Amino acid sequence: MFLFTKKTSVRICQFLLGSAVVAVLSLPQAQALHSYHGVITSSFRASAQQAGVDNQLIAAFTDIFSPRLDFKRELRRGDRWRFVVKDRREGIAAAEYVPRRGRRLRAVRYEIAGRSALHYSPDDSHSLQRAFLRTPVKGGRITSTFSRRGRFHPLLRVVIPHFGVDYSARIGTEVMSVADGVVVRATYNRINGWYVKLQHYPFYHTAYCHLQKIAPHLKKGKAVKQGDVIGYVGASGRATGPHLHFSFYERGRYADPLRKQFPPKTSVPQPYRADFQQQARNWLSLLPPYPPGA
Ligand SMILES: [Zn+2]
Repeated sequence: MFLFTKKTSVRICQFLLGSAVVAVLSLPQAQALHSYHGVITSSFRASAQQAGVDNQLIAAFTDIFSPRLDFKRELRRGDRWRFVVKDRREGIAAAEYVPRRGRRLRAVRYEIAGRSALHYSPDDSHSLQRAFLRTPVKGGRITSTFSRRGRFHPLLRVVIPHFGVDYSARIGTEVMSVADGVVVRATYNRINGWYVKLQHYPFYHTAYCHLQKIAPHLKKGKAVKQGDVIGYVGASGRATGPHLHFSFYERGRYADPLRKQFPPKTSVPQPYRADFQQQARNWLSLLPPYPPGA
């Protein structure tokens, strides 16, 4: 872990880093700047803990990159990561994940007046968040994928198509809306059990089935935001055990959400791009160096 102090801006940091370290001591309300790095041996959590990263920052790092990286399935031994934190309330200022194979991911926090701060990629100025989340349940394990040809249904004892993705998770696990949208159904039927169907943008729908219960106050016509809790994993309706059946529709037809390339949720608006790129360069220069040979 690297540690030094700063007052208000990155530029000051760089100045202090370069020479006048003594000046740090005389700065009022100096803030600590922390940075961390590591190499994956088993999981991200394991290597982060080894580097002294606390749980809150582990979660923050995972949240930043999870729209682009499946922390359960896509991490490989030897992948490298690093990040820098300005202050605890603002969280991670800049972060990088470098897989041994494949493209590196980078993220820089940027705040545009009147909007909440987001992490954008310095490579294309797009948000790392996609218009749709990769998964509606945190920590859910995929137990059945989308299949038009079908699979053997253990309850019905016949082969039927599976127009969705099943996530196994404990009863009561929060289910999130994968995108901003409007509730078009929040009700019960014999097959789906308690379920919620949402409409997103003009052409997309998602459905969340076999819920234990629907989130309180969720009603037809209500607007939801990406990541809002809309219900809880259960086994209602025709279900063999607790899981979420998640369906995705494009122009009214079932589609496989795992095969979709979703557009970024948003981008740094053109008038801010030069400033974002400048700030990004500053923050990225503060990332700690990887150890030699890593
Ligand atoms: Zn299913």
